[in-house]
Amino acid sequence: MTGLFVDGTWREAASRRTREIRCPADGSLVATVPEGGPEDSKMAIAAARRAFDQGPWPATSSLERAALLHRVADLLERDKETVARLESLDTGKRVVESRYDVDDITAVFRHFAGLAGAESGRVVDAGRADVVSRVVHEPVGVCSLISPWNYPLLQTAWKVAPALAAGNTFVLKPSELTPSSSIWLMQALEEAGLPAGVANLVLGAGPDVGPTLTEHPDVDLVSFTGGLVTGRSIMASAAPTVKKLALELGGKNPNIVFADADRETALDLALTAVFLHSGQVCSAGARLLVQDTIHDEFVAELVRRAERIRIGGPFDDDAETGPLISAAHRDKIEAYVAAGLAEGAELLTGGARPQGTQYDGGFYYLPTILGSCHAGMSVVREESFGPVLTVETFTDEDDAVATANDSIYGLAGAVWTSNAGRAERVAGRLRMGTVWINDYHPYVPQAEWGGYKQSGFGRELGLAGLEEYRETKHIWHNI
Ligand code: NAD
Repeated sequence: MTGLFVDGTWREAASRRTREIRCPADGSLVATVPEGGPEDSKMAIAAARRAFDQGPWPATSSLERAALLHRVADLLERDKETVARLESLDTGKRVVESRYDVDDITAVFRHFAGLAGAESGRVVDAGRADVVSRVVHEPVGVCSLISPWNYPLLQTAWKVAPALAAGNTFVLKPSELTPSSSIWLMQALEEAGLPAGVANLVLGAGPDVGPTLTEHPDVDLVSFTGGLVTGRSIMASAAPTVKKLALELGGKNPNIVFADADRETALDLALTAVFLHSGQVCSAGARLLVQDTIHDEFVAELVRRAERIRIGGPFDDDAETGPLISAAHRDKIEAYVAAGLAEGAELLTGGARPQGTQYDGGFYYLPTILGSCHAGMSVVREESFGPVLTVETFTDEDDAVATANDSIYGLAGAVWTSNAGRAERVAGRLRMGTVWINDYHPYVPQAEWGGYKQSGFGRELGLAGLEEYRETKHIWHNI
């Protein structure tokens, strides 16, 4: 059985328990995988510790590490269709989106291959002729890498590729809902020639396998992507051993449309911003802020277009959006919509499950737009992580910035205007880790990604995404 991967060996869970993975689009059985617990996490941490303390990997040259990452990228290119199908079966996401994801994942491995030797150290002037003083970077050690279900392998790659580029060993814990692509990744790392024990995989429910990964004294670093509530508990559990920590948490991201915006593109991308992957995107533009002078006309057209969005399963070529990840998640979204309506929001479209036998067994929900919203409502303040757009209005630039920043989150946002000066001013004033001007969602691995405020701290991608996984040492040599 492929499942847990510890010290180069595939294993069952210590408890022998298993979990069925079912496709959210129709409930069909995708795989049966081991369901780990704390004992499995301990074993995986011990293997990663040995591989770090005794193994060859941390001492390999950056060229060797880069070569390995390129080999993984080659395997992604070879297995693109397989990996895309695994992602779509686990998440219910359209396979066309999964193919884009695999291209992105490949680019992430190549990006960190290119950076493996970057800025590896420098000599500093000690002010004395008999001293050589230099700063070097070293791997941090054993890393616990914990990822969510919405972009399973992409979020994992943002952690695994830099961790390996910097010479660390790790234990990976993907979401219990979407383990398949992580199993593929372990096979690929093995095929690429990574020494045993460097990469370890534990599967299982967060509360079972997770706490050991975040509190164990042999773990040096925790990198977590997931929800705010889990992030808070991980921060607390990593505190007693003062682990290095990176938290990539949720967002409630404003998409700001000024009256002078290119209307066509702004309308199209306002829909993509929120309804891509059924809104299950951390940077989803779930808060639409429209200037009051164009509000009625803009929103009427937006609703008209939202009602034409075709819903379907991952392999339905006509589908433009798909199901939610689980029944529990759909329940949560329904509760947010109900709360919004109770607080005075107006249902402009959606707010229900689609009708038809083709949706039986899946967790579908209609693209939903709520009007007459304000920042005091829970549906505006909290991340529903579903296909729900709330619409607010603003009067001018100051009002737009103040409304957009009125959030505990600070992950991403966008501004639409044909006035370049205003675009730059607003982008500069938004308290968010990513701001798009006249666009929504694109990213490149060369640029850092991460949150302000309670969207977390630490950065992924870019150069900072590598530095998270490096220690810095000063060596003073009195010769
Ligand atoms: P989640 O917090 O429920 O779970 C994330 C991961 O943490 C899973 O692997 C889960 O099993 C694990 N986990 C749960 N409890 C744990 C514990 N006590 N200890 C250790 N691990 C534990 O999040 P989710 O529902 O899988 O993902 C959705 C969330 O992720 C959304 O809030 C979304 O915004 C966020 N997200 C953020 C980014 C970003 O870049 N900032 C990217 C993708 C997703």
